[in-house]
Amino acid sequence: MKSEFFKRTKIVVTLGPATEKAETIKELIKAGANVFRLNTSHGTMEYHREKIRLIKETASKMGIFVATMVDLQGPKIRIGNLKKEIEIKNGDTLVLAHSLEQTDENIIPVDYAGIANDVSANSRVLIDDGKLEIVVDKVEDNKVYATVTNGGILKSRKGLNIPGSTASLDAVTPKDVEFIKFAVEEHADLIALSFVRQKEDVLLAKKYINDFDSTIPVISKLEKPDAIRNLSEIVSVSDGIMVARGDLGIELSPVEVPTCQKLIIEEANKQRKPVIVATQMLESMINEPIPTRAESSDVANAILDGTDAVMLSGETSVGKFAIEAVRMMSKIAMNTENSCFYKFDTDKELDNEKALTRQAIVFGADKMLKYVNAKAILSFSHFGYSTRLMSKLKPSAPVIMVSDLEETCRKMTLAWGVYPFYKKWDGIVDTNLLLKIDEFLINEVGLKANDYVVITGSAPRLISGRTNFVRVHKIGT
Ligand code: ATP
Ligand code: MG
Ligand code: MG
Repeated sequence: MKSEFFKRTKIVVTLGPATEKAETIKELIKAGANVFRLNTSHGTMEYHREKIRLIKETASKMGIFVATMVDLQGPKIRIGNLKKEIEIKNGDTLVLAHSLEQTDENIIPVDYAGIANDVSANSRVLIDDGKLEIVVDKVEDNKVYATVTNGGILKSRKGLNIPGSTASLDAVTPKDVEFIKFAVEEHADLIALSFVRQKEDVLLAKKYINDFDSTIPVISKLEKPDAIRNLSEIVSVSDGIMVARGDLGIELSPVEVPTCQKLIIEEANKQRKPVIVATQMLESMINEPIPTRAESSDVANAILDGTDAVMLSGETSVGKFAIEAVRMMSKIAMNTENSCFYKFDTDKELDNEKALTRQAIVFGADKMLKYVNAKAILSFSHFGYSTRLMSKLKPSAPVIMVSDLEETCRKMTLAWGVYPFYKKWDGIVDTNLLLKIDEFLINEVGLKANDYVVITGSAPRLISGRTNFVRVHKIGT
């Protein structure tokens, strides 16, 4: 079996100035990157257009599927563009006012017009994922006067949070709509929606996507206390979930992040939706070649919690050791997956409401693996529905998905343990087709004659029909 099939947890990599060259993208893919995230909070639309095309071109030259994820800024307040970085010290007084650019040395620009209305004396304001903290003294003439309570280096475009205040911004901002249009035009595979509070926010984003005649899946970023309260209904209307720990740790508190993470992963797994754990996973690798022990433990524990994917942000967008960070994550993932601690209860209940036949086949296939010590599951799928179900059982062998839709192949790169292949094999299931399958398993997957695989698909038409068969197959027989 080829070595790329040994890593089952997926890695989402944020692209930025440190990783924007074709050669680096290639190295990131080789190191284990499966999904590329473009953060629309930073960089222009033209920048992201160029990058998304470069990612697609690079992956296609390598003959590998990766997905592109357009992450919408959402109602996030940010510091405007500063003339230069500013060191702020505890006790300093800062003046903040609405503006995109800094025009006055003594006034810090904030990109949100309502900033002076949304705070009052004693409001806590956190900047840069909570690294800096200021407390408001007074608001006068649309200017906010505040005292620094946790100093550091203030940089352009860093996020600004006012915990507890539901900023009077819409869930999908006009900028987000522009980027939804962009994502559709550029055939992005996933859209991430920031600061989801309720299911209506997700449905609104989906309505916009639909207005542009598209069905790009929506990954809801959970980073608000409201989202935790409405967890089940948000998961039910989303196509995937991200535990966005940066803002979650500010809006709640860092103390609550670990238990929230477990709660969110459990709900996503229950509803069989892919889930990503994000932010500060290997943060120190922005500047150092090896992570802290706490960070490598964090990656491993997210995987043990049952996440499908782990994500890198600053580590790969601006970090000095981007490729090393992806390599490190891959190694931690494989070590964790192969440990005796990595056990999931696959004896799940059928969800009686829908797709009973497909569920029965997928659950059965998962059980069959161990009886014949199968090397892989071969899942034929048009839209990837059964393959996604299969992935959610965290089967003991890799899931080799064959689809006749490239779009499905790219989208499924996020699913735990799934390796997509694109083939136009929508033929009738017969001896000829089985020979072709054997050839594929030997030449492209790296299996050998007499190896067992468990095949699921549709008969008579292998891919385009709904999954209705499972076959225990011995290669070459
Ligand atoms: P979010 O809340 O959406 O995660 P963020 O500001 O935390 O936003 P990340 O994507 O987590 O951003 O990336 C971490 C840091 O990397 C950012 O604060 C920013 O400084 C930098 N960064 C990310 N993408 C880019 C980019 N395309 N261009 C420039 N800097 C970037
Ligand atoms: Mg965020
Ligand atoms: Mg972040």
